[in-house]
Amino acid sequence: MAPWALLSPGVLVRTGHTVLTWGITLVLFLHDTALRRWEEEGALLPPLTFLLLVLASLLLYLAVSLMDPGYVNIQPQEEAKEEQTAMVPQAIALRRCRHCMVLQPLRARHCGECRRCVRRYDHHCPWMENCVGERNHPLFMAYLALQLVVLLWGLHLAWSGLRFFQPWGLWLRSSGLLFATFLLLTLFSMVAGLLLASHVYLVASNTTTWEFLSSHRIAYLRQRPSNPFDRGLARNLAHFFCGWPSGPWETLRAEEEEEEEGEGGGQAV
Ligand SMILES: [Zn+2]
Ligand SMILES: [Zn+2]
Repeated sequence: MAPWALLSPGVLVRTGHTVLTWGITLVLFLHDTALRRWEEEGALLPPLTFLLLVLASLLLYLAVSLMDPGYVNIQPQEEAKEEQTAMVPQAIALRRCRHCMVLQPLRARHCGECRRCVRRYDHHCPWMENCVGERNHPLFMAYLALQLVVLLWGLHLAWSGLRFFQPWGLWLRSSGLLFATFLLLTLFSMVAGLLLASHVYLVASNTTTWEFLSSHRIAYLRQRPSNPFDRGLARNLAHFFCGWPSGPWETLRAEEEEEEEGEGGGQAV
């Protein structure tokens, strides 16, 4: 195998993220920021805590990026049919993916980049070079939250080391790199903050990015006036973070339909 074959997009993106993370951390330590002042005063707890948080965010990133997001396993045809008969209400027929030919559970979608079907597909994240789906979505949220904390702390540290003075040529040489880091951290903080806020909303209403953006294109949502998976804030959060109550989405939707039919006096929905 040629050595450059190891340079897959995933390896490049993960290496880039790791280098960028430690590069920014190094810039903060090498300039006259609060980190250095703490070190000089002998207060080692804050810099060590910062380093540990950076490390934890990096490990979470790698975990989300490398783990199985919830791929639908390729099954022999008979087995798949048996599973469908056993677990899924008869009224809901599963679709077969036209790319990888597996029977797609409700809310699964084929990802062109991963070339697999992913359960409760949310989106394919280019920053992770992995899908966000049923299995890694809770960890993805934890990563976003921790990353935002690290970014905001890093932003505060960068600001603490910035001094503006003339001549500008001298300023650029002494503080240019720290100022560029400050701008980068501002941009990343805004992106992470917006992403976290939007995912909190999606999780609270038990919907996914794909369903939210493309409900008009999705058969199981197009026929319905409201989101059939939304069971209220507490149950949505319990299901998302603790997997409770467990069970296939088809059952949840069938229960919802029964309830609606009951409330509507048997009217067609
Ligand atoms: Zn597929
Ligand atoms: Zn994907």
